[in-house]
Amino acid sequence: MSKKRPVLGVIGGSGLYDVAEIQGKETLELDTPFGPPSAPIVGGTIADQKVYFLARHGQGHRFTPSEVPYRANVHAMKQLGVTHLLSISAVGSLKEEIEPGHLVVPDQIIDRTRGNRPFTFFGDGIVVHVPMASPYCDTFADEVRKAAVASGAVVHDGGTLVVIEGPQFSTRAESFLYRSWDAHLVGMTAMPEARLAREASLCYATLALATDYDCWYEGHDSVTVEGVIAVMKKNIEKARKTLVQLAQTLPQCTCTCQTTVKDAVITSPEAIPEATRARLALLLDEQND
Ligand SMILES: [Zn+2]
Repeated sequence: MSKKRPVLGVIGGSGLYDVAEIQGKETLELDTPFGPPSAPIVGGTIADQKVYFLARHGQGHRFTPSEVPYRANVHAMKQLGVTHLLSISAVGSLKEEIEPGHLVVPDQIIDRTRGNRPFTFFGDGIVVHVPMASPYCDTFADEVRKAAVASGAVVHDGGTLVVIEGPQFSTRAESFLYRSWDAHLVGMTAMPEARLAREASLCYATLALATDYDCWYEGHDSVTVEGVIAVMKKNIEKARKTLVQLAQTLPQCTCTCQTTVKDAVITSPEAIPEATRARLALLLDEQND
């Protein structure tokens, strides 16, 4: 169990590029062993809770889902002492009851990215197998759900998020396929972000903002950028209210996320190359906490 005071990191997706509610803002230019993050990180407080915010797609939305520097983003948050990382993402709905404008806190992920995104911090002489059976921190996800409900939004508890490579939306056959898997949502960025958050021993949760019905729903317009943006603007307001609620209630977790790496390194300590150990020190030093 971690005894650290919680520090909240937020990675905002499409439509969310800053958070007006953050007080005493400072802009931080960080570098990591994996290059710079998508954008400078804005630090400050909401209701005395330390918060760091990063625009996932960069200033002006310049990175495609495939181009986002996921490793740098998660590493930069770790450098700042973040313990709880919240992803806020626009998604398509695969279920009739999840209407555009609804919020979902998913509990599972199916990774349909194409394997071109760097998806681990490790390798180069160190092998680490972290568990992904529950890709999200259940404790943190529950807090996010409660905060979303308190903000007045319609919130769905749990659900499976299919992560596609993008940047194109799904074909209709793909959309039907994901529905046949009983998946609830389709998005483009939760992988490898969730894998990397777990490898960085962070509590991770997603607040998914449903913007459209993908393209499976006969009689509903298929997904377009224009339609997504219109719903997105309304959703962003709900997400920001959720964030303010969450900042007031974020507890010290009783989960095991923050000691993940301790039990996951399989390589003998003496076999780990010094350069690799040095590069990953921030992630490995967690073992000594
Ligand atoms: Zn956790």
